[in-house]
Amino acid sequence: LVDASLKQIGETDGKIGAFLTMDEAGAKKQAGELDAWTGERGLLFGLPAGIKDNIVTEGLRTTCASQFLANYNPIYDAGVVTKLKSAQSVTVGKLNMDEFAMGGSNENSSFHPVRNPWDTSRVPGGSSGGSAASVAAGQVYFSLGSDTGGSIRQPAAYCGVVGLKPTYGLVSRYGLVAFASSLDQIGPITKNVEDAAYVLQAIAGHDERDSTSANVDIPDYASSLTGDVKGLRIAVPKEYFGEGVDTQVKERVLEALKVYESMGAVWEEVSLPHTEYAVAAYYLLASSEASSNLARFDGVRYGVRSENPANLLDLYRRSRSDGFGAEVKRRIMLGTYALSSGYYDAYYKKAQQVRTLVKRDFDQVFERFDIILAPTAPTTAFKLGEQADDPLTMYMNDICTIPASLAGIPAISIPCGLAEGLPVGLQIMGKPFDEATVLRAAHAYE
Ligand code: GLN
Repeated sequence: LVDASLKQIGETDGKIGAFLTMDEAGAKKQAGELDAWTGERGLLFGLPAGIKDNIVTEGLRTTCASQFLANYNPIYDAGVVTKLKSAQSVTVGKLNMDEFAMGGSNENSSFHPVRNPWDTSRVPGGSSGGSAASVAAGQVYFSLGSDTGGSIRQPAAYCGVVGLKPTYGLVSRYGLVAFASSLDQIGPITKNVEDAAYVLQAIAGHDERDSTSANVDIPDYASSLTGDVKGLRIAVPKEYFGEGVDTQVKERVLEALKVYESMGAVWEEVSLPHTEYAVAAYYLLASSEASSNLARFDGVRYGVRSENPANLLDLYRRSRSDGFGAEVKRRIMLGTYALSSGYYDAYYKKAQQVRTLVKRDFDQVFERFDIILAPTAPTTAFKLGEQADDPLTMYMNDICTIPASLAGIPAISIPCGLAEGLPVGLQIMGKPFDEATVLRAAHAYE
C-alpha cells in the first residue's frame, strides 16, 4: 500500500500539488518494519496517510504553508501524530493548505495552490485543500485536516470525499499550530464513512497536554454503523436553503432527504434564526484569536528571521512583513483592531454574545431532533482565481459550515451526487459528542 501510495503521488502530484513535503524514506522504512511485524496489528495498520502541514511532526518539516515556517523542523509530534503512530498508519508526507489555515480555496498557500482532482482548473476548497485532494486523487488512504470554520468539511465537499469535524475537545489540539483556539479541531478526511469512523477511533480521546481536551468515554464508532435510521429525527434548517445557495446544490440535498425518508427517518423544517449573524461573528472571533496566537511568530523563536535588523523592533517588523502573506496580515490587523481598547465591547464582546445565541439555536433544535441536515457549501468548486481578489465573497462561502464551528458540535460532509459534473456535499450536524449518530446517519445514506 505504501509503495502504491508513493507511486500515485509521483504520477499525479505534479498536477494536483497536494504535498508540501514528502517523507519517502521514512515511509519506506516504516513499511519495512511493519512487513516484519508479528505482534497484534494496530487499528490503521500499514495505511498510508497524509497530514495537514499545521500539525507538527517530529523531524519532518511543518510549514503551515507559510514562508515564515519554511525551515521549521518540529522537535516533537502532535498528539494525533503519536496516536496515528500507535495505530500503525504510515505518514507519507505533509499536505498543502491555506497559510495558517486561513482561507477556503487553498490559494493562500505561500508555496503553490492545490488543484481539484475532478477538474484541475478548479480549487479543491480549503483550508485543508491538500488533505481533501490527496484522498480524492487516491494518493493516500486517508488524511488529517483541521477545521476552524469549515476547513475539513468544505474541501471534502468540493473534492467528493468524506470529511468529519469532531466535537470541539474530542481530539487533542496538542501540536496543532493554533489559528483560533476556541474553534480549531482536527479530524479525518477519507473515501467513505466507515474509514472516517476508524480514523476517528484512532485519534479521539483525552490528552492532558491540551487544556480544552474533553475527558469523555470514547464509544466504538464502527459498531454504530448499523445502516438503520428508522425513526431518526432530522431537522432541516430553512436558513441553509436561502438565497446564494445554488439551486442544484439544494436539489441534491433535498434528494438525499428523500432517501432518508424512504429508509424510515422523519424530518421537519426548522429555523436556526441567528444563522445570518454567524459569519460576521466568526470572522471577528477567529481573527481576534489569530492576532493573539500569531504574536509568537516574531522572528526570534520560530522559523525565518529577517537579516541585519537595525534593532529589535525592526527585527519583529521585517520578519513579520516578509514572513506572512496578505490574508494572514488582513486577519491580524482585523483581530488587533477588534481587541483594541475602546472597540473590544463593540466587536469582540458582541461577537461572543452572538456565538452564544447561535449555540442556543442548536440546543433548542436538538431537544427535538437527532441530526440536522444541510448543504456543506452553497456552491460546488469554483475556478482558481475566480474569487481570489474578493475576501468578502470568500468569507460568505463559509455560511453553511461556520455555525457548527461556533457551537462546537460535530459535523460531517459526505458526497451526495453531482451538479454539472462536480461533487456536492451533504452536511450532517449532531449533538455534542454524538459522533456515533452522525456517523450512523452518514453511513446509512452512503
Ligand atoms: N474559510 C474559513 C476561514 O478562512 C475557515 C478556515 C478554517 O476552518 N481553518 O477562516
